[in-house]
Amino acid sequence: MNELELRSAIVAHARSLFARGLSPGTSGNISVRMRDGFVMTPTGSSFGALDPERLSRLDAAGGHLDGDVPTKESPLHLAMYEERPDANAIVHLHSTYAVAVACLHEVDPDDVLPPLTPYYVMRVGRLPLVPYAKPGDAALAEAVRKRARESHALLLANHGPIVAGGSLDAAASAIEEIEETAKLVLLLRGLPTRLLSPEELAQLRPAT
Ligand SMILES: [Zn+2]
Repeated sequence: MNELELRSAIVAHARSLFARGLSPGTSGNISVRMRDGFVMTPTGSSFGALDPERLSRLDAAGGHLDGDVPTKESPLHLAMYEERPDANAIVHLHSTYAVAVACLHEVDPDDVLPPLTPYYVMRVGRLPLVPYAKPGDAALAEAVRKRARESHALLLANHGPIVAGGSLDAAASAIEEIEETAKLVLLLRGLPTRLLSPEELAQLRPAT
């Protein structure tokens, strides 16, 4: 995809997420890695009304080149890209069910969601919890950097999910699986539940 097509893809994904209530208000941000830097959604922008020409362009070091000022959460994206050379796109949401799970006590910080469905296992695999830190704080970017080495999908405590993918489609599909699985976990709370067995998990292609 050339840059124009990538910009259109960012706008289309954002609009779809907004239309389905997955990015309330001006929450959520998307970025794509280019050959010489990044294109990112601007700060304070609504996913429902992005202008492809006003998306922020950053150089390879994360410096703002042109377009609107990038999201304040850009350090999270940059930390993940640095740790994951295979990542070409990142999506971060404050989607309701994933945030709800991110607020629960007694989750496993090494893998927050259980293996309920095969597509979750294939697209996400494991979901480590990143300890809470104030948005925009350098401590949060450093905590993301640590966990990004071991997983392309992370859940920020009391905040929301962030997912890197080889493509924007892959990152968006994975973060939607997190939201759906979080919803299932809450629907099934208190009900006897069959998880995928170790043998069934072994048959599924692990997520990258
Ligand atoms: Zn956020």
